[in-house]
Parts: sequence; structure tokens; C-alpha cells
Amino acid sequence: MTKMHVAVVEHFGKPLVLQEWDIPTPGPGQILVKTEACGVCHTDLHAAKGDWPVKPSLPFIPGHEAIGLVVALGADVTIVKEGDRVGVPWLYSACGHCEYCLSAWETVCADAQFGGYTKNGGFAEYILADPNYVAHIPAGLSAREAAPIICAGITTYKGIKETQAKPGEWIAISGAGGLGHLAIQYAKAMGLQVCAVDIDDGKLAHAKKLGADFVVNAKTGDPAAAVKKGTDGGAHGVLITAPSLSAFKQGVGMTRKRGTCVLVGLPPGEFPVPLFDVVANCITVRGSFVGTRKDMAETLAFAAEGKVKADIELQPLSAINRVFNRLEHGDVPSRVVLDFAGG
Ligand code: NAD
Ligand code: ZN
Ligand code: ZN
Repeated sequence: MTKMHVAVVEHFGKPLVLQEWDIPTPGPGQILVKTEACGVCHTDLHAAKGDWPVKPSLPFIPGHEAIGLVVALGADVTIVKEGDRVGVPWLYSACGHCEYCLSAWETVCADAQFGGYTKNGGFAEYILADPNYVAHIPAGLSAREAAPIICAGITTYKGIKETQAKPGEWIAISGAGGLGHLAIQYAKAMGLQVCAVDIDDGKLAHAKKLGADFVVNAKTGDPAAAVKKGTDGGAHGVLITAPSLSAFKQGVGMTRKRGTCVLVGLPPGEFPVPLFDVVANCITVRGSFVGTRKDMAETLAFAAEGKVKADIELQPLSAINRVFNRLEHGDVPSRVVLDFAGG
């Protein structure tokens, strides 16, 4: 077999096109991964719509939650071997020698490449990867279960760490979808008290089942006031995963004095910051972007130990446009994972 099925963005904002492409050959320092499963992140939707200031070049294959088996090695590859199960994440590669790479902040390397964005991603039966940046999937974790962990999981685990909230303190998680449903579980596993905020009662009911101590529907009343009341003064940490600008101002308003509001959702645009409140209450507002390779290993360890578990709905690659449509309308309960096991 020399061809592979792929889903391609040919034009921003248009449906993906299912095509057959030649299976790529790994060059020096590259590996070829046969995809077993790939999660569908809201970022893939932003990418396909061309939502962000720096756009991918067309055509491209989205997907940055791909898990698969290494099937071929390019020259000089020694750190993985054929048969290893790896994940090809958003942080596809980085330079390895800039000030950020040297200080284990490779996520902000100026030369970083992004899977499913600047490099073709996992909505494909095969994917080329950089062996220095793949995730190593622990034994006992299936490809399907691991897929959401390598973006939704790492992003929320790192984001929670970045709030600097301590065990016993409160975290408010805005958005209880793909990222949020894992954020709730990581936060509980890290000893935090959790308030989940969403605009969908079904997602909030699910959030309670996953361990949220209380939930707030942002559509009914003032969510910042509700969080402040339920946490006796505001959450020590706030993690905003909602792809909605209104959630950002609300999230700053949920933050306790001297607390930290971490932004990870990426709707296009800007949001107003109530300057007096932020200054007078000594609030930190901080962005956070996926996580480093060290964060990846920690994130996966929680899943391998059964402390967090992604809720997944399996779909074939051919269903991608229906899945995107549902994601756009908030109709995906947690995470859709494209299942390549059918061959
Ligand atoms: P998703 O569609 O699965 O979930 C979004 C959730 O937010 C849904 O449950 C939805 O009901 C809820 N929501 C919508 N409007 C809301 C509001 N006003 N208040 C509260 N909740 C609201 O999306 P996802 O895959 O979880 O991705 C979420 C966002 O995170 C996207 O913008 C994505 O690009 C971004 N993202 C960022 C990073 C990063 O590294 N910073 C990584 C991955 C994803
Ligand atoms: Zn993602
Ligand atoms: Zn670098």
C-alpha cells in the first residue's frame, strides 16, 4: 500500500476534503507513525477556519492528538524504535537551543512547529513526526484513551499548575468541554476544590459526575458573582477554556484577590480587562500554551494511573465534517476521537 486516507483543509471555512495522498517517507531525523486514533480539538476548528493572526499554509491536514505506532525510522533516529506507541502533539518540534528551549519552555520557542498547523497532522492514516518531541505513551493506556490527553490533558494540567493554586484551594474552570472535562479531573487529582462553569446544563451535570464541587451556568445570572459566593471571595485559580470572549471577562471577575486567572481558550479577538479591579486586587492574568515534554510525561502518568480518564466518542475519519459542525455548536459532550482501527 502506498496511499493513505487524509482529511485536508483546502480553503479556510470550507468543509474538509477527503483525499488519498502518498504515504510520506521519513527523512533523516524523522519517523513515520501509523495513526491509531486522533482526537478532535476545538483548535482544529480554529485552524480550519483560519481564525488566528498567523494562519497555516493551505492545503494542510489538521489534528494534533494523534497516537500511533512507529512504523519506519529515517536515518540517524535512535531514541524511538519501530513498534513504539507515540503521540504526535501540537508542539511538533522546537529549535532546542534558544533561551526558551534551554530553560524548558520549548512551547514558546520562536522556531517551534505545530502539528496539524505548520506541519501536517493526524487526520491521516500516517504522519511524519520528530522523534525528539513525540509523546511516549505508557503501557496500559490505549491509543484512544491517550489521544485527548496529549492536548486537552496537557493544556489543562499545565494551566492548573500555572494558576499556582494549592491543594485545598478553589479553582474555577470555565468551559466543561474537551479541555474542561479533563481539567476538572486533573484539578481534583491535584487536591483542589473545583467549580465548573459552562453554558450547557448537560455539560454541567457531567462536570458534577466528574467531581466538580459545584457548578454555575454562565447563561443564568452573573457567573462571577456566583463563583465569588460559592468560594467565599473568589477562586484562587481560574482556568478559562471556553472558546468565547465573554467567558474571559467573567473569568477575571471570578478570581480571588491575589489569585491567578489563566487563559487557555483561543477564540479570535480581544477582551476588556477591568483595570481597576485587577490592579487593586493584585490579580495575575496569564496565558498558557499546551505544555513542555516534561509536562507531557506528568500528564500521561495521571492517565496511566487511572486518576483521569477522557470521555471519548469514537468516529471514523470520514465523519470529520459532521464532527466539526457539532463542535462549533457545542454539541460534542466531551471529546470525539477519530478511530483508525478499521484500517
Ligand atoms: P470544546 O468545544 O470541546 O469545549 C468548549 C466548552 O466551552 C463547551 O463545553 C462550551 O459549552 C463551553 N462554553 C462556550 N461558551 C462558554 C461561555 N461563555 N462560558 C462558559 N463555557 C462556555 O473546545 P475545547 O477543545 O475544549 O477547546 C477550547 C478552547 O481551548 C479552544 O479555543 C481551543 O482552541 C483552545 N485550546 C487552547 C490550547 C492552549 O494551549 N492554550 C490548547 C488546546 C485548546
Ligand atoms: Zn488541541
Ligand atoms: Zn528554541
